[in-house]
Amino acid sequence: MDAEIIAIGSELLLGVTVDTNSAYLARQLAAAGVNVYRKMVVGDNVDRITTAVREALSRADLVICTGGLGPTLDDVTREAVAAALNRPLEFHPELLDQIAARFAAMNRPMSESNRRQAYVPAGARIIPNPRGTAPAFLIEDERGTVVVLPGVPGEMRYLFETAVLPYLREERGITTVILVRTLHAVGLGESVIGERIADLMQQTNPTVGISAKRARYELRIGARAESQAEAEAMIARTEAIIRERLGQYLLGEEELPTVVARLLRERHQTLALYEGILRAPVLQALLSLPDSDQVLRGVEIHPLDSPADTQAASDLAAAGAANVAERWQSSIGLGVQPASWPDTNGFTSVSFVLITPTGERRLNRPFDLRSSDGFEFIGTAALDLLRRYLAGEPE
Ligand code: AMP
Ligand code: MG
Repeated sequence: MDAEIIAIGSELLLGVTVDTNSAYLARQLAAAGVNVYRKMVVGDNVDRITTAVREALSRADLVICTGGLGPTLDDVTREAVAAALNRPLEFHPELLDQIAARFAAMNRPMSESNRRQAYVPAGARIIPNPRGTAPAFLIEDERGTVVVLPGVPGEMRYLFETAVLPYLREERGITTVILVRTLHAVGLGESVIGERIADLMQQTNPTVGISAKRARYELRIGARAESQAEAEAMIARTEAIIRERLGQYLLGEEELPTVVARLLRERHQTLALYEGILRAPVLQALLSLPDSDQVLRGVEIHPLDSPADTQAASDLAAAGAANVAERWQSSIGLGVQPASWPDTNGFTSVSFVLITPTGERRLNRPFDLRSSDGFEFIGTAALDLLRRYLAGEPE
């Protein structure tokens, strides 16, 4: 089954309200094994909503609309959906009674405009809305099914879960299982990862997608199958291929800070940090470790007093690392020191040094420190240096 989602409301187009309903519906439909091929956002305009519904119906089996069911004149979804399906609106006195009862329960007078909410397109199946005044509805047409839900997120979700999902399962025979596994990778560029798994990213089932955040990568494997076991087996096969292609750069289901914290714990190691950057991106990264206060013994933050090139920065980082490890009696000292000047591309060389019980590891790498992202990259690089040392991987 293919679906499209239409979010209706001029406030969504103005960017005043963020369209969270579509994202929720997309996740729910994906989990139910329904393919979502398109999402639209349309303002409160009868013609444009009518066109959007007609177009969506010409492509998809299921169209889910949210928003525009309120009592005021700018809420025109009912009229537009009726027009798209060539059906008149019909007045339902029992709906008006329900709306009136809701107002009575709230001890508030019902306004005349609420009458509008008692109209639904002819032949529609009404989905009662105990959470609000706007009833939802569902229409089966030879072109497909249109479901119309209110825009208020809590009401929309409630009706989707209690009425739409059961309809899809019980009446439309949806049994598909979709499983998604997220794997984390670090230390390679996005384009390199993309090249190594290009063939997997073109597959349709299981699908493999990648997203990047400050040099940390999330790989999502999504498998669709008729049983949980089958979906799990598909994911396991794909994960094994990705593991083979990315090797030490693939962390698995744990995120980088979790891996580093676990390795420090397993190896009974503690840390002290010398950081030559006032903004302390590496301290920030270390504080994101789940048990940072147990593994991080002490920190010295000390911006450069005098100019340093890359070699001098690396030596300062090494001296600082040795010094803090000694001072706070930690098994590992980590030193971080940028050189004084950006190079001609605007990148700054940053030196990292790990002083460990078995020796020393050094890394110099350029970062673009003109944006705050650059600092987060430094944090990721430092955690990855630690991870690779702790995991016994080569430099
Ligand atoms: P409506 O049903 O269009 O009258 O919308 C009722 C309320 O729900 C509005 O105040 C919006 O803030 C909110 N809303 C409508 N559509 C969405 C959406 N797609 N995502 C999040 N909130 C929404
Ligand atoms: Mg609206």
